[in-house]
Amino acid sequence: MDKLSDKYLRARKIPSTACSGCGLGQAHKAMVQAIDELDMEVNDIIWGTSIGCAGRQTFATWNGDNFAGTHGRVYAIARGLRLAIPPEMKIVLTVGDGDAFGIGLNHLLHAARSNAQMTVLVCDNLGYQSTGGQYGWTTPPGVVTDSSPYGMSDPNWVQPEMDVLNVIKAAGGTFLARHVSMDGRALVDTCKKALQNNGFSLVHCVFPCITNFGKNALGSRNTVNMFNWIKNHAAPLGEEEDNQEIIWRTGIYYDASNSRPEFSQSLREQTAEIQRRYQDEGSH
Ligand code: SF4
Repeated sequence: MDKLSDKYLRARKIPSTACSGCGLGQAHKAMVQAIDELDMEVNDIIWGTSIGCAGRQTFATWNGDNFAGTHGRVYAIARGLRLAIPPEMKIVLTVGDGDAFGIGLNHLLHAARSNAQMTVLVCDNLGYQSTGGQYGWTTPPGVVTDSSPYGMSDPNWVQPEMDVLNVIKAAGGTFLARHVSMDGRALVDTCKKALQNNGFSLVHCVFPCITNFGKNALGSRNTVNMFNWIKNHAAPLGEEEDNQEIIWRTGIYYDASNSRPEFSQSLREQTAEIQRRYQDEGSH
């Protein structure tokens, strides 16, 4: 156990049950580090998830309140919870790429539309890995997976002309970013900004799944190979222009933090106003 896990995580859940060499821990640690650097305590945050590798390894380790929803529905649960908890408490969700950009996308868009405070860390293992390695919504074109033995031909949600972050921006999300898990300091700083938005924030973070993606797409479960493969296909926004190999443009895509009312804050204010009017009418 290190200082961060002593402070924030459940000892009996450490070490993680993720496969050896999995990059999920990098994404998880970046969020915990950001929480620590913002001087937040365990009781300042409720940590939720729904299903799959990303959720299983993260929410249950949180030493404060946590919850698991059904696949793709965690955003709706979080919106309801938002109304029940003190406004100053934060909700953090760690979800997978299928949960965020596939089955859960409709619920996620409504959370963004209402600007409900939640910081969604999309831990993207590039497909359905906890079920054996089928392709998903962010699987890069052409790669071999368990369900695309001749190469992935379905368009994905990360292509520049149909980037899912543009969809979420159009729906009303107020902070949107993308990273790969080995971005280190930059990923921590982005998570801090996401947490400081009193509204809907989403950080899309790609990480290596060596067990299925590594084996099927890269022909090897060698951890270093996969880390290098992801790094070689990522570049900060603005530095990717001449490199056709780049799949992931990293950094902050959109920052309109604290620019419009948060969902539960609006409802609380409206409720108070209605109660005031009702009392005024009753006193006449
Ligand atoms: S199956 Fe892949 S994503 Fe899931 S824990 Fe193992 S290495 Fe990580």
